[in-house]
Amino acid sequence: MKRKLVVGNWKMNGDRARNSALLDQFLGAMPAGVDVAVCPPFAYLSQVGEILSGSAVVLGAQDVSEFHDGAYTGDVSVTMLADWGVRLVIVGHSERRALHGESDTVVARKAAAALDGGIVPIVCIGETLAERESGVTEQVLLRQLDALAANLSPELLQRIVLAYEPVWAIGTGRAATVEQVQAVLGFVRRWLARHLSAPERIRILYGGSVKPETANGLFGLPDADGGLIGGASLDAQSFLEICRAA
Ligand code: PGA
Repeated sequence: MKRKLVVGNWKMNGDRARNSALLDQFLGAMPAGVDVAVCPPFAYLSQVGEILSGSAVVLGAQDVSEFHDGAYTGDVSVTMLADWGVRLVIVGHSERRALHGESDTVVARKAAAALDGGIVPIVCIGETLAERESGVTEQVLLRQLDALAANLSPELLQRIVLAYEPVWAIGTGRAATVEQVQAVLGFVRRWLARHLSAPERIRILYGGSVKPETANGLFGLPDADGGLIGGASLDAQSFLEICRAA
């Protein structure tokens, strides 16, 4: 039985005082039996890493450069993340794909760079509302997944975490239904089975407006191995309840 993984994606939120209050509250009541990670903005990796040291909560980041150290103004390399104690990194979040023009290939290269530096990438995939409504959800997911297979050997692919995040459910308060989520997770699992010898070992998370009230149903799905939590991870009580549901 895989343990569930719950990851808090703080996005561009927080300050030193709020970060430490949030983590103090969370660490004081953290449930056992679930893997938990938080991904603060780069600016707070060092502060959050210090607070988390000695706890079971893993330090994650929200992005990584596809390049190694050098002339890449504004970027952060996997070597730097590892140096900070980061063990997980989100890549290909829909906000990065949409606002920073990250292509499927760039996302796959970032995943490869992360693995190369010993950090596990959480690769986000998902369709927009327009894509879902025009019936091309599976084609979009396939395009995003195929880019991973084209850039990662099966051995590397076996080490990633996937996060299915329908773009229309992110930050909207409108989570996908359990039926919609299971349909996609099953599709992803079948894709994994075509590429890997141990597809069941890959953790697939769901993300998009997960709240304490919806977490139980989502985490109970046969192919859901946890969640990627945005807004609700900024509130210690909500994040605790979601972790307990996992
Ligand atoms: P949300 O964000 O939980 O606020 O919808 C999820 C995410 O973007 O990872």
